[in-house]
Amino acid sequence: MEIFLAQKMGFCFGVRRTVDIALKMIQINQKKVITYGPIIHNEDLINYLKNNGIDYTLDIDKIDPNKVEKVIIRTHGVKKQIIENLKNKGVKIIDGTCPYVMRVHRIVEKLSKEKYPLLIIGNKDHPEIIGVIGYISDDIPYFVVKDLNETEELVKKGTFQKIKKLGIVTQTTEKIQKVKEIVNYLMDYIPEIRYFKTICYATDENQAAIRELAPKVDIVIVIGGKNSSNTVKLFEIAKNYCKRTYHIQNENDLKIEWFKKEDKVGITAGASTPDWIINKVIQKIREFDDIICNHEGREYEKVN
Ligand code: SF4
Repeated sequence: MEIFLAQKMGFCFGVRRTVDIALKMIQINQKKVITYGPIIHNEDLINYLKNNGIDYTLDIDKIDPNKVEKVIIRTHGVKKQIIENLKNKGVKIIDGTCPYVMRVHRIVEKLSKEKYPLLIIGNKDHPEIIGVIGYISDDIPYFVVKDLNETEELVKKGTFQKIKKLGIVTQTTEKIQKVKEIVNYLMDYIPEIRYFKTICYATDENQAAIRELAPKVDIVIVIGGKNSSNTVKLFEIAKNYCKRTYHIQNENDLKIEWFKKEDKVGITAGASTPDWIINKVIQKIREFDDIICNHEGREYEKVN
């Protein structure tokens, strides 16, 4: 078998930065450190951190300042109020929020001060959007829409009738085409729109790379957390081009019967998949290759 890696895959800049912060804590033997919520969508990494003394919590009330000195904020960021609550608790904050997400926080804070109602394009249940909403002032109306249909619904309900100006930001992983449709549509209804391009192209690059690789191989292995939306997206793209596409979390999910002798194997990984997991998957596929070649060789001898 031959193994081909997607030109771009695995950790994006923001995830790498936050994970490095946590790994550094282990390296310098810092005790009493936790993360606020799972640091990224990857169970193996969460377990690794836990086994090395860095657990997580989402319940600030349960944090005991005698046992916890530092709290790492995850890549997706959190509401401003959470930072305040943690400070009041007397713990030190290590902010692992991706700088691109921090920029969205700053923009909505500024627009709030300038009394702009806000439209956020994204998934209202995603931690990033929950965090962004937490930076909007209490007296400012805001709306979250996932697509053009939901925006049209708001217009039909007359939501924007009295709104003279509107600020628009997006989830960092949004698609530009969808955003353009929504902004263009709203231009007919709102006299003043301030749109900020807050899209990050890191996940797009991973998607473009698998789009290029998948049609050229016989089987694709997509590595990443089952609840990682960008990994699921990579799986969907690859499956369109290559029927034998499998989504695994780590090397233990691989099955030897998926592979055939002389297969071209394509590999990609979600933005929250650590390099060490990718390396273990490659190693295991190489072991399968040895087994399949020897095994098929023996069978061939028997037939003759
Ligand atoms: S995808 Fe972009 S915005 Fe999100 S964590 Fe990675 S670098 Fe930051």
